[in-house]
Amino acid sequence: MLESKDPSKTHISQLGEFGLIDHLTKQFSISQKTTVKGIGDDAAVIASQKNDQWVVTTDLLVEGVHFDLSYVPLKHLGYKAVIVNLSDVYAMNAEASQITVSIAVSNRFPVEALEELYAGIATAAKIYNIDVVGGDTTSSTTGLLISVTAIGHAPKERIVYRSGAKENDLLVVTGDLGAAYLGLQVLEREKEVFKVNPNSQPDLDAYTYLIERQLKPEARKDISKLLAELDVQPTAMIDISDGLSSEVLHLCKQSDVGCNLYEEKIPLDPQVISACEEFHLDSTTVALSGGEDYELLFTIATEDFPKIKANPHLTVLGHMTHKKEGIHLITRAQTKIPLVARGWNALQSED
Ligand code: ADP
Ligand code: MG
Repeated sequence: MLESKDPSKTHISQLGEFGLIDHLTKQFSISQKTTVKGIGDDAAVIASQKNDQWVVTTDLLVEGVHFDLSYVPLKHLGYKAVIVNLSDVYAMNAEASQITVSIAVSNRFPVEALEELYAGIATAAKIYNIDVVGGDTTSSTTGLLISVTAIGHAPKERIVYRSGAKENDLLVVTGDLGAAYLGLQVLEREKEVFKVNPNSQPDLDAYTYLIERQLKPEARKDISKLLAELDVQPTAMIDISDGLSSEVLHLCKQSDVGCNLYEEKIPLDPQVISACEEFHLDSTTVALSGGEDYELLFTIATEDFPKIKANPHLTVLGHMTHKKEGIHLITRAQTKIPLVARGWNALQSED
């Protein structure tokens, strides 16, 4: 399907490098007041904001390492490549305003495939109200590489680092956890079934939320605004890309504190609970180690608790302690076990 040998598809060489850049980027218009010059010059120009500081973040996604095109549609990939970067901007409690997009492509991809990728990028840019202001385009001898850089800004006093959590602060998470990892498990299972029987018609109704969280994740653009409305300034913040336990460990290390995290508080969607039963996975392990949830994890002073306690988007998971108390999960059975960072590999060998 992706092969550019298909005569109905347009080979990249028919457009040439500049023709391709023009073809892919002509759809982008400027909506941010800080964008002085977008695509088309040697560099984009962005106006400085009086009291704000800039935040800049980059991610590189590599085919075969970060994504598998046999079940990830290119449009979703473009969307997700933008989202993962915006999530990092929002994790600084900042507002995202511009991105640049760089791609390396092999000639195995026809122009139509790149159009799909850029349709996803354009959709994310529109929904999140950010300008695509530049990028680079080059060839690759093997797969597809996408690198997105996101730019954002916030008043100096609103920016939140990983390092500000204090003893007794409450640990808070947005949304729910574990769904993206289970979505990947469902997609990988379907890929295996498809290999055996290409005519199989998967019934994925029971997994719609999980698959959406994997293929079309959203970044928490709403949280910085919500926190401002609630008059809460977090003391530390990070986004959940690698799983809750890994991010808690980062916050603790950089803030020089310990933490007690309560298993019973971890927010789980009902689809996560039922899929865990089906895949013989422990839902707590999935939430702790699954990753790719793109929720925000932050700490607040205890006196701010009344301001957030009724909010359906926010869940208090535990509290920060003195560093010497260590970093623990308090299980439902009230046992205290040290929290360790475990990647996906550890998870996969669980059953
Ligand atoms: P340069 O020679 O300075 O690298 P290019 O010819 O690569 O310039 O790019 C021309 C313009 O198109 C620049 O504004 C650049 O930022 C933009 N651009 C190039 N590739 C992409 C891309 N893949 N996505 C978005 N913008 C791009
Ligand atoms: Mg270039």
